[in-house]
Amino acid sequence: MTESMSRAAAEIAATKKPDGFCIDRRASDAGRMLEQWPRIAGMWSQLCSKHDTRHAPVKRRRDKPGGFPDRRSHPVPAARRYTAHMNRPSDAEQPADPGLLVVLSGPSGVGKTTIAHEVERRLNAAFSVSATTRAKAPGEVEGQDYYFLSEEDFDRRIDAGEFLEYARVFGRHWYGTPRQPVEERLARGELVLLEIDVQGGEQIRRVMPDAFLLFIEPPSEDELLRRLRHRGRDSEDAIDRRFAQAKAEIARARECGAYDVFVVNRDLDDAIDETCRHIRRRREQVAGRP
Ligand code: 5GP
Repeated sequence: MTESMSRAAAEIAATKKPDGFCIDRRASDAGRMLEQWPRIAGMWSQLCSKHDTRHAPVKRRRDKPGGFPDRRSHPVPAARRYTAHMNRPSDAEQPADPGLLVVLSGPSGVGKTTIAHEVERRLNAAFSVSATTRAKAPGEVEGQDYYFLSEEDFDRRIDAGEFLEYARVFGRHWYGTPRQPVEERLARGELVLLEIDVQGGEQIRRVMPDAFLLFIEPPSEDELLRRLRHRGRDSEDAIDRRFAQAKAEIARARECGAYDVFVVNRDLDDAIDETCRHIRRRREQVAGRP
């Protein structure tokens, strides 16, 4: 490790914007960056161009049905078009595999969070940390479970084009996927995992047509109701509400045509195996391997 490498890594750590979304949760300390020198060169050029890659502010209405604006009515700003190539690694650093964006959705109580974390572990996927306006629950960690934002901050980031998708979930709080960390990881050839609702899935299908979307389903409505009760977290009223929302979400996922695969979670281990198998197969297809 040369002295100039160490200096560059220290400068990268110092350049991270204090109020920005963390570029790489698992490599956010300079020590780890030093171990990952080949990637640092790519990150360095991205950080240098960070100022240029921000969207020109476009007023977006988050209460518009479907949430995200139609790209055709909001052409990509010139500054973004110009810098798009700068976010890609140079030919010398081309990743061995192309990146793949994977979306996991499913109603609450179906086990999707457990499946998502197991996919992250087994396939070495990068889990995208969402932003939300809901309050932090006990035990949740800022930047690890979510970025907890005020309504004003969330609005400001919508206007600045910082979300890949965003939606008001269950008619209450706002949730959104920070764009920059996802685009950077995909450019480095990584597998990026989003755990988002169906509204978000539909938006991703529109803005990233090559993404792979999976929906986790319960074996039956009766079984879903049994699992929601079994969690022991909610009152009967809340269970009824969640059950109605779950049925609506399943119906929408089936109708919208955004999802590639439906995995039925009869048995958790089998559902994890099946989900991983689908993602591996898709990755190989994308990489051009039969
Ligand atoms: P919770 O508040 O229970 O953590 O999440 C509630 C719902 O919000 C879940 O269905 C989850 O999938 C969804 N969600 C979490 N993050 C995002 C996001 O970034 N975008 C969208 N559209 N939905 C999200």
